[in-house]
Amino acid sequence: MGHDHAGRTERLDLADATLREWEATVLDVDDDGIVLDRSAFYPGGGGQPPDHGVLLWGGVQTRIVGTRRGEDLRLVPHDDDPLPVAGTPVRGAIEDDRRTALMRTHSGLHLLSGVVFRDFGALVTGGNMEPFEARMDFNLPQVPEGFKDAVAAACAVEVAADRAIEVSTLPRAQAFKIPDIIRTATNLLPPELEVVRIVDIVGLDTQADGGTHVASTRQIGGIEVVKVENKGKGFRRLRIRITP
Ligand SMILES: [Zn+2]
Repeated sequence: MGHDHAGRTERLDLADATLREWEATVLDVDDDGIVLDRSAFYPGGGGQPPDHGVLLWGGVQTRIVGTRRGEDLRLVPHDDDPLPVAGTPVRGAIEDDRRTALMRTHSGLHLLSGVVFRDFGALVTGGNMEPFEARMDFNLPQVPEGFKDAVAAACAVEVAADRAIEVSTLPRAQAFKIPDIIRTATNLLPPELEVVRIVDIVGLDTQADGGTHVASTRQIGGIEVVKVENKGKGFRRLRIRITP
């Protein structure tokens, strides 16, 4: 069981964010959900919600509406659907519209955090996303005049620059030599983690991250800065929308 597993399940989504269909075998089924030997369902985490999709087997389908993480990664079936028993071969499929929207949105948030750190020196303190809608919280004591428009303009430049977004894994010690990783992840990563997955918007932003991302910034689409909220004490919340 390496870093590419969740319990007994091989995480296909970590190696290939574009994978939408695959063959698998059911290992276990109980009230908490279905365990597969291989799965491309993103299980949720880092602000990115879990995937939706289906398992196809024996001429029927089981809709998957979420995930539960315990010792194993369990796929949560829709209440009305039939359940495969352990040993059943299934074909898994991810709902493409939702996943692709979440990949664009997640990459958009990394681009935003890179721009706001580079241009305003503000650190991220939290974030969350739904397909095409997201928020990110920053520690920014003063909001300069024209901040919202300046952020939107800088995001547009970085999208148009079509920077590559590269995913890799590094041994922990090596990862922690990257200044950006020290900035974003020092206190977040459990000490027992031996390898760190790195998402790099080349030339803009490098973060330790387990999410799924598009391959370059142009694939994000437009980033509209909807609102800058003052939550008090240097706590600013930026709301963004991803547009076609
Ligand atoms: Zn992320």
